[in-house]
Amino acid sequence: MFIIFGDKHRTETVADGLRVERECPTCKTETTFRERVVTKRFRLYFVDMFTHGTHHVLECGECGQTFVTDELPKKELDNDQSGTLLGHVLGVVDRGKELATDPRVIESVGQAQAEATRALGVAQDEATKAFGAAEKTVSGWVAALKGKSKPEP
Ligand SMILES: [Zn+2]
Repeated sequence: MFIIFGDKHRTETVADGLRVERECPTCKTETTFRERVVTKRFRLYFVDMFTHGTHHVLECGECGQTFVTDELPKKELDNDQSGTLLGHVLGVVDRGKELATDPRVIESVGQAQAEATRALGVAQDEATKAFGAAEKTVSGWVAALKGKSKPEP
């Protein structure tokens, strides 16, 4: 079976985020840096399945280069599942709960939701591990290539 999967990174400006004026190390312009949140999404057959990681960066207002910094307060964000398949599933479950009046239906919907959340939690952990391993492998290749390109002593 041919499975197409990959990772999509989306960045969004944080509305009440940090703003700092400084010279950009990349484009050498004195400009405003804005706090942005980077969202990693797991895609399968071009469909966003779920969000598996978010982190905060500062983005240069001039050239758009993003920088990881320790100036940003550590924010534990709940992964935002809006726009993903998981988001749709959870939305449908929530609406089902609102519409259901029979307590037995409400209970089984609740159980289904807990099951779905647990299963996707496991899938997220696995995907995060897999991407971590893949990143390590690629970093290894880059390091090996850099080592090879160094002039012989
Ligand atoms: Zn810049």
